[in-house]
Amino acid sequence: MKVPEGAKQTKYKTTFVCVKNGVEKEFDENNYPYNDTTWVFKDSRQEILEQGYEPPIHDFSITDGETGEDLTQQILDKKGYTFLLVAPYLETADDSNFDEINHIYEYAKANGYAFYGLTASTEKGIGHWRDITGAEYPFYITDGITLKTVIRSSPGLVLLYQGTIINKWSQNDLPTAGRLNAPLSLIQEGHEPENHTWMKIVLIIICYILPLILLIITDRIWAWTQWVKKREEWVKQKEQSNRLYQLIKRKRQMRKKIVAGNWKMNETLQEGIALAKEINESLKAEKPNCDVVICTPFIHLASVAGVLDSGIVGLGAENCADKEKGAYTGEVSAAMVKSTGAQYVILGHSERRQYYGETAEILKEKVKLALANGLKVIFCCGETLEEREAEKQNEVVKAELDGSVFNLTAEEWKSIILAYEPIWAIGTGKTATSDQAQEMLAYIRSIVAEKYGKEVAEETSILYGGSCKASNAPELFSKPDIDGGLIGGASLKAADFKGIIDAWKK
Ligand code: PEP
Repeated sequence: MKVPEGAKQTKYKTTFVCVKNGVEKEFDENNYPYNDTTWVFKDSRQEILEQGYEPPIHDFSITDGETGEDLTQQILDKKGYTFLLVAPYLETADDSNFDEINHIYEYAKANGYAFYGLTASTEKGIGHWRDITGAEYPFYITDGITLKTVIRSSPGLVLLYQGTIINKWSQNDLPTAGRLNAPLSLIQEGHEPENHTWMKIVLIIICYILPLILLIITDRIWAWTQWVKKREEWVKQKEQSNRLYQLIKRKRQMRKKIVAGNWKMNETLQEGIALAKEINESLKAEKPNCDVVICTPFIHLASVAGVLDSGIVGLGAENCADKEKGAYTGEVSAAMVKSTGAQYVILGHSERRQYYGETAEILKEKVKLALANGLKVIFCCGETLEEREAEKQNEVVKAELDGSVFNLTAEEWKSIILAYEPIWAIGTGKTATSDQAQEMLAYIRSIVAEKYGKEVAEETSILYGGSCKASNAPELFSKPDIDGGLIGGASLKAADFKGIIDAWKK
């Protein structure tokens, strides 16, 4: 009990009322008849001798009677169970149950539990108790009134577990030997002592396992949402590429497939007319699956136009002048070509570039005049063998297109048909493989797309030319970017030419 500094503690006088032969007599701690059993205890009273500091009821304190040391905290801090025998006045304590008390003390000792007597009595009272009960347990001093409140104003036994009261018994109802043998029954319901193993497990669960589980769950949810997001993106992309593929497929189906013959400087007028007739007749008999054009020398044009069924076979020139008209001896203007009934003109053929010095600039003029005169232009481009071996084919082709046709408006572009003709494959019997041809045509389509947009590129017909025959045409025409062929040698025989045209039926 801690008395505030400077304050005196309240002093009490305890009076014990005893009866003998109907006569009542009062005793105090000093003259109490401990050894005279003829006096029977009846009541006790307490009066204040000197008012001083009184600790509040919660300020429960336990003091060593001999040393005056405050043991309260020490006892409350004790690990495990602690029995407190509460006997405010040992002078008057009922010794009828001291056997039971001793038994509980033995039980506590055997189990390693602490056992203390708490009393407000003097050393004399404690000595009296030891004499009559043989008690070995220590007695400590606690304020009498406080003690009375511990067990509903009646002395008895209190069981603490680590400083907390978990059960108490009045002295008339002390725990029996049977209950002591089942120690858990000593614990009052609702006051179970903390089970440290369980508490540790719970703590580990709360502090480590639960956060870990939450972390894992959060991580999984996050991963799942990412997966869902990615999948949605993937599905979107797939739908987009499907749409694009369908569009390209549709465009490819819509894009004009063309087989155009280039007679070059072959056939007399009569031979040419006969060939044209033969081609016309065979295609009239069996409708082609593509547009068919024959490009003849200038002198054939007007006559051949007369024998062709224009709905079945188109007619084109192999060249036209880069000047509109005038004093250009030997030249044939785009307007003159148009006036024969022709609808097409081949421009930029490698033979014209190679043998007649047609530059990109000259070709640009020719293209402009051809378009201005309502002709459709089959514009040729392609690299030499050296250029291919130096892997410059893309560069060369792009420069040819840049120099002569990429200046056109989108509207003018509608009258352009491109023909990729690797010079090393023209008239040499050496065909580009279908993969080589496809690769170049895809590249050409990509640069057209860069210039005029994907849609226009998808609508542009691009032909392959160079030793194309009935035998290799189906393979070449099966490639997605090859829209037909510009045919030299094989266009001079109606049957050979028809064989190539028929490749579109396969
Ligand atoms: C051509 O001259 O355009 C051509 C492709 O020729 P050939 O088919 O004979 O190779």
